[in-house]
Amino acid sequence: MPVKRDYYEVLGVSREATKDEIKKAYRKLALKYHPDRNPSPEAEEKFKEISEAYAVLSDAEKRRQYDMFGHAGIEGHYTYEDLFKGVDFSDIFRDLGFDFGFEGFSDFFSSFFGGRRRTETRETRGRDLRFDLVITMEEAFKGVEKEVTVPRTEVCPACKGSRAKPGSSPEKCPACGGSGQIQKVHGNAFTRFVQITTCRECHGEGVIVKEPCNTCGGEGIVQKVRRLKISVPRGVDTGFRLRLRGQGEAGLNGGPEGDLYVFVYVKDEPGVRREGSDLFIHKRISYPKAVFGGKSEIELFGEKIEFEVPEATPSGSTIVVEGKGMPAVGESKRGDLYVTLQIDVPKKLSNRARELIEELAKEIGEEKLGQKKKWFNRKLFTAFS
Ligand SMILES: [Zn+2]
Ligand SMILES: [Zn+2]
Repeated sequence: MPVKRDYYEVLGVSREATKDEIKKAYRKLALKYHPDRNPSPEAEEKFKEISEAYAVLSDAEKRRQYDMFGHAGIEGHYTYEDLFKGVDFSDIFRDLGFDFGFEGFSDFFSSFFGGRRRTETRETRGRDLRFDLVITMEEAFKGVEKEVTVPRTEVCPACKGSRAKPGSSPEKCPACGGSGQIQKVHGNAFTRFVQITTCRECHGEGVIVKEPCNTCGGEGIVQKVRRLKISVPRGVDTGFRLRLRGQGEAGLNGGPEGDLYVFVYVKDEPGVRREGSDLFIHKRISYPKAVFGGKSEIELFGEKIEFEVPEATPSGSTIVVEGKGMPAVGESKRGDLYVTLQIDVPKKLSNRARELIEELAKEIGEEKLGQKKKWFNRKLFTAFS
């Protein structure tokens, strides 16, 4: 155990230094030795040393103890966790560019100094779950309620998460007295230091379960498959995400449940193309309708939609039917429907129809169609389109 340096010396300040001077000195050194900036192992040691010195000298009571008793005034009295408790490091590091939240900070320091980390008994929020839900475009059009089964963990109903057999309860660990850690004091009349280790009996949990719950095997949580109704609003598209609060995995030690995220995928629909809230389809119309115009209708997702074909409409024209596309999530308005028209060319003709078309062909200057059969369709198509 190397001799511990004087905290004032470590920070390079006088014993009369003000709080502000101490803070400034620490900032300067932290910038130089923070492990994010300086990867050398010596820097890490150095950073521990200055952080400890700062933790003590920035706290009026700890500083008083140190001034009176030196290191012995600190080591016998504070665990590492206590030492750093209440020190606002985030205030110092935020503008140095090390952006930790407060939680991140205490975690960071406790792992850094090998101090106590009682994550097992800390309240922990359950994990979030993800569920991929595939629906048809028609279901997306109308909105749908789906029943799904989601495997997840739940707090054990028998022991309510305590892990102990119903009727019994976890007991305070006799080896560590419930603190989860063992302190050993070494030294003699002149030097003294405390070594802190995680309690081996309770693995740092502070409690011991003598009779584990049979239902969960002493885990405190059980695997369950939960049936859930998921309401998918109308208008959703692939990539839509629903969040069901509290339907994720069970929290630990009384922590809250995580959330369930439902990711929606909308299947392709044959013959329908979707772009946002707009829908695109094709529709065949007869030659006379293309020539004379008139009402036409289609059925899409169970809805009859009427639209007007204008006179003399060429094949390939697109009619926009406003407000007949996909609904938008949470809105009453709908996108538009684009209907691309194709002129239907019949493969089989009745004798009467053939006569009429031959007459028409003569009228508009097409001849000999009857004799040159293999040209018939091509010529007719060219003439009519
Ligand atoms: Zn149980
Ligand atoms: Zn223990």
